[in-house]
Amino acid sequence: MQPKLTKKGNAMSNFFDIRCPKCGADDQIDIAATVWLRVMEDGTDADQSEDGDHDFEPTSPATCNACGFTGRVQDFEQEEKAGIVTTNKIAELNDLCRTAMGVAGRLFQTAGINALPFADQSAIREKVETFDAFTPDNDPHGERDFGAFEHNGERIFWKIDYYAPDMEHGSEDAADPQKAVRVLTIMLASEY
Ligand SMILES: [Zn+2]
Repeated sequence: MQPKLTKKGNAMSNFFDIRCPKCGADDQIDIAATVWLRVMEDGTDADQSEDGDHDFEPTSPATCNACGFTGRVQDFEQEEKAGIVTTNKIAELNDLCRTAMGVAGRLFQTAGINALPFADQSAIREKVETFDAFTPDNDPHGERDFGAFEHNGERIFWKIDYYAPDMEHGSEDAADPQKAVRVLTIMLASEY
């Protein structure tokens, strides 16, 4: 019988998303699970027991064979949650960069945008500021760093890039405002 993992209680949404919180490995994690065995004449048989599954819970012991980290299943889940927290932080800072345009980050308009009448530039900036049409398609990572819309029949893009404070290199941590200077670029789709 192929060992089958089942989840109990407050389980993870996707077992294979869990990572070692120490080294990041996701393919060498062992979990101590409970196995029910049927006592037979000549020994035991897992296939015969009523519940042949291998059950584990958030508090079950778990270990990473890559680095030796040992903890509980929930310690490994925490790392997954930490990833979500980081993504949310990046998305929040990106929203701030748009809504406090030019204050919470730098604003760059391309030549194509600058060539438009001022009223259109202002209307476009407002559409960037209030943009909320995020979908898994245009925002696959949930970081809300890109958007597209129409203005007067013209396709407009906006995107946010993260620079190191020296403004030359890329930022090493987009979730830390001290380590990331955000640049919001507004452009014509044809300039992309
Ligand atoms: Zn590890």
